[in-house]
Amino acid sequence: MAHEAVSSSLAVDEQDSATLHQPTKDATPKINLLGMSRAALEQFFESLGEKKFRAGQVMKWVHQYFITDFAQMSNISGKLREKLEKVCEVKAPEVVHRHYSKDGTRKWVFRVGEGSGSLVETVLIPADDKTGARKTLCISSQVGCALDCSFCSTGKQGFQRDLTPDEIIGQLWVANESYMEDVEVAERTRSVTNVVMMGMGEPLLNFKPVVQAMSLMLDDFAYGMSKRRVTLSTSGIVPMIDKLGEQLDVALAISLHAPNDELRNELVPINKKYPLEQLIASAQRYIKKDGNESARKHVTIEYVMLDGVNDKLEHAHQMVKLLKDLPSKINLIPFNPFPHAPYGRSSRNRIMAFQKVLSDAGFVCTIRQTRGDDIDAACGQLVGQVADRTRRAEQWKKKVAQQHEIVRSQG
Ligand code: SF4
Repeated sequence: MAHEAVSSSLAVDEQDSATLHQPTKDATPKINLLGMSRAALEQFFESLGEKKFRAGQVMKWVHQYFITDFAQMSNISGKLREKLEKVCEVKAPEVVHRHYSKDGTRKWVFRVGEGSGSLVETVLIPADDKTGARKTLCISSQVGCALDCSFCSTGKQGFQRDLTPDEIIGQLWVANESYMEDVEVAERTRSVTNVVMMGMGEPLLNFKPVVQAMSLMLDDFAYGMSKRRVTLSTSGIVPMIDKLGEQLDVALAISLHAPNDELRNELVPINKKYPLEQLIASAQRYIKKDGNESARKHVTIEYVMLDGVNDKLEHAHQMVKLLKDLPSKINLIPFNPFPHAPYGRSSRNRIMAFQKVLSDAGFVCTIRQTRGDDIDAACGQLVGQVADRTRRAEQWKKKVAQQHEIVRSQG
């Protein structure tokens, strides 16, 4: 299943392209500029007979001032603005649900196609420090996921499709814009400080669009984020970790969740294809890559704590052994149970005992705070609920239509 997904994502057209939105009945399809890299946008302007530097100007309007209306792009000539309006657009995915939690967590559900199965979610988690300045956005890369990790709500929804670059960067655009709705254009700034590609889907199975979107995150004409603050999290697609290392300098996180192959095969089935020895070796290669010192000093290890499953002290000791030659920081995540989840959350005491073994062995080991519980911030949960509501609404509409049909045929 994962192999098919790898080949489908690698088969993506080599062109650095934007999404063509489906035409409405009488309109010509417009090119969406939102997900275009600087190089692609420069090419686009050249194809219009314009100078390349227009790309940077438009990118700043779109990604730094959150302007989607070409008429407001005041440093661009009226003639060019008219031309742009005719052939292109700047369009983020449609927000169908948003919720802002009391603790500062924000969550959005986006519709990226027809029907209840075409929803993705994005979560913004503010740091629990005095300044509250750090805001981390967890971005989705696919609709659903093919990898079926046994503790994951997204995996249970199955794989629908890969997201396009504009649907991926659109999540960051919407999150930033949500803080700027009432701010004068000239005063606007970017609020999201950190991005983790850790939402729905396996980002390395949607490689090209993810790399294209992440290059916009790093681009000074777009979000200009520090490469240390942009993290890709993978369940361990070994050949793609190497490929990522060749193309982009960003921080790497590994969803490990088990310290031995037997248990990991059960929790993260892709482990059967790329077992731990291969995975750890690829992470070592990633951080050793020349010329990439700042973003790659260590790998972050994500480890969800499942009661009685992977949280025993012997597991902590196995972790110490497994990671001894890999510079790593470990993040223990208390499991957030979802309906029909086959696991429970480890107790606080158990998590702390696990942490102590790792800290005593010299690892930096943190416990993730559970945030946004009031808005179902665990990956995949809110989409599940919104999908249920959409499905119910669709069933209701069908029922009403059937009843009308019956009444008509009787009348
Ligand atoms: S944990 Fe990540 S890779 Fe595994 S099923 Fe969920 S979304 Fe997919």
